[in-house]
Amino acid sequence: MRMNEYQREIITRLLRDIKERSPFYARKFDGIDLTQVSTQEDFERLPFTDKADLREAYPLGLAAVPRKDIVRIHSSSGTTGTPVVIPYTARDVEDWAVMFERCYRMAGVTEDDVVQITPGYGLWTAGIGFQAGCERLGAMALPMGPGNTDKQLRMMEDMGTTVLCATSSYALLLAEEIKSRGIKDRLHLRKGVIGSERWGEKMRNEIASDLGVEFYDIYGLTEIYGPGIGISCDYRNGIHMWDDYIYFEIIDPQSGETVPDGTVGELVITTLRKEGAPLIRYRTHDLTRIVPGECPCGSRFPRIDIIVGRTDDMIKVKGCNMFPAQFDEVLATIEGASSEYQVMIDHLMGRDEVTVYFETIVPEEGRIELERELVSKIKSKMNITVIPRAVPVGYLPRSEKKTNRIFDNRY
Ligand code: ZN
Repeated sequence: MRMNEYQREIITRLLRDIKERSPFYARKFDGIDLTQVSTQEDFERLPFTDKADLREAYPLGLAAVPRKDIVRIHSSSGTTGTPVVIPYTARDVEDWAVMFERCYRMAGVTEDDVVQITPGYGLWTAGIGFQAGCERLGAMALPMGPGNTDKQLRMMEDMGTTVLCATSSYALLLAEEIKSRGIKDRLHLRKGVIGSERWGEKMRNEIASDLGVEFYDIYGLTEIYGPGIGISCDYRNGIHMWDDYIYFEIIDPQSGETVPDGTVGELVITTLRKEGAPLIRYRTHDLTRIVPGECPCGSRFPRIDIIVGRTDDMIKVKGCNMFPAQFDEVLATIEGASSEYQVMIDHLMGRDEVTVYFETIVPEEGRIELERELVSKIKSKMNITVIPRAVPVGYLPRSEKKTNRIFDNRY
């Protein structure tokens, strides 16, 4: 995708004084003459910013404005050590709400809606982003936060909630409760705004129908405002990204080179308007691809696909990049195959071998056909030849936790 003229101008302006405003970028771009950066190609030669850099800047080393101009901070979870602190100016807070309001509008939410917000409030960017966008739109916000299912369902019923904002796992939990209590008829839900994460199409449709909603996938990360920098539309064919606030690239996570449109790679984001903590070429480690072409909804905002995984999930075999979501996608198109599978990668007699075990309800005599279908579909999607092993349902181990499905036995 080409950088548009508007983005090019803003980026040129941003780079002009970033070193004076931000000690963080003064260090990062030390020795680089940023006044020479004027084309997309020049820009693509600038070094990336990674989460580790942000951690090193703790607590407020990322700030590109005087301390008095910071009106709020957010922080991403510190499970891996030092947290990342992101300072926001008044305009950043406003810009985020503007983007979030757009998200609601894209999902067809109006000022007549009652919006139940179940993501968490606090240092984390989730709840408050949903809240600010909702108030800016003029809808009625129910700032619930997560948990306390009894109270959630009571408010949902009594306040006449029409829009549910949730993670996909919490939406699933609520859907199950609503079903088991048999209270669907007393609810008025019509839309679900759900954090973008990969979940099977089948399960997703089930939850949507249990709740009686249409789902919209919202995307974002704390380092770049928070949720709300993009959302899917009625056509559910990708996430429209607000490219007047952010510039995004898709790169090969190993080489760092930009990949052609349509190819899966790592999403890299540059903020165009952020004052408190502008980020330049920030590596999200989220895997996705640019969806080429125009969306039938008529929106001019470019699309990325639903996030298909993290760069850490990616595995290189015979020169090809593979990731778990690709197997999910292929299996979803094979009639009679369940969503349970395991992939074994071995190094035998000097070459890599990929064996795919997958469960099926098809009796033994029909499995050869299924295996052939799997091999040809994987070959065309991932350009790799695998050894197929169709097995009966229940054959593969189940686990409560997020199951690891790819086993790399080469090292
Ligand atoms: Zn669209």
